[in-house]
Amino acid sequence: MPDRKNIFFYYEKHKYNSKVDVLKKLATEQDFIVVEKSTDANIIASIGGDNTFLQAVRKTGFRQDCLYAGISVNNKNYFYCDFDISDTDKLIETMKNEQFEIRRYPTINVTIDNETSFHCLNELSVRSSIIKTFVLEVHIDDLHFETFRGDGLIVSTPTGSTAYNKSVNGSVVDPMLPSIQVSELASLNNNRYRTLGSSFILSGKRKLTLEILQDGNDYPVIGLDNEALSIQNVKRIDIELNDTIIKTIKLKDNSFWHKVQRTFL
Ligand code: NAP
Repeated sequence: MPDRKNIFFYYEKHKYNSKVDVLKKLATEQDFIVVEKSTDANIIASIGGDNTFLQAVRKTGFRQDCLYAGISVNNKNYFYCDFDISDTDKLIETMKNEQFEIRRYPTINVTIDNETSFHCLNELSVRSSIIKTFVLEVHIDDLHFETFRGDGLIVSTPTGSTAYNKSVNGSVVDPMLPSIQVSELASLNNNRYRTLGSSFILSGKRKLTLEILQDGNDYPVIGLDNEALSIQNVKRIDIELNDTIIKTIKLKDNSFWHKVQRTFL
């Protein structure tokens, strides 16, 4: 990584301090500069699982000028981790290597009530917060597509397709397809209420709008990856694929589909 030398480690300090100290020493020996502020970094390494990687990306502001690297700590398979902390040979080889491929993960942009925008790497989830169905008007571009009544909807990125989306039978989507997937959480389907009833995948060029019916049950829980949004009384949510792309190092024989195979088959 000749042009990138400033590395920031994102991890839970109380858990992995000693392990990360070893990594920091290794990085310094390979002529990297370990920085204390993520804003000074051009490589951001998260130490932990997928949850830590999601947090690392969110807390450092979905940086476009950085390479992110997920490093796991217990030799398990994680979607956002290409390395394990115990495999120092692979880490050194990659640090020295000038030619490696870069993986690009699409993200989605979520705008609440035409005012505040957020990024998501996994998904946006909108769920009723009480034991009562709630209603969403679903628009695709200018088309009023359906009226959803049920527990909620998940709008996932391709890399988020293996997370919450998969638990509700959504499809696994190749991150090389810039797209957004909409999956239902327990929709009501009868003579009065009707939804598509299956997940659907939209081209990255489309815009999805969710309008929350203001009928008393209009305080849903809104999740952005693994964080809950504290804004309440939301009326409208616009979702589209972002120009923001998360870049990570791709190791040989470790494509997205290798990861899917290792994790699920
Ligand atoms: P969690 O409920 O503690 O863990 C959810 C699990 O999903 C963890 O094992 C996590 O991996 C894994 N995961 C995260 N992103 C993934 C991805 N892109 N592909 C495959 N697996 C993935 O919550 P968390 O650890 O804070 O993670 C937040 C994510 O949990 C959310 O973004 C959402 O996708 C997912 N979630 C799933 C359900 C469900 O399946 N019913 C419900 C709520 C949320 P690690 O163990 O490596 O962290």
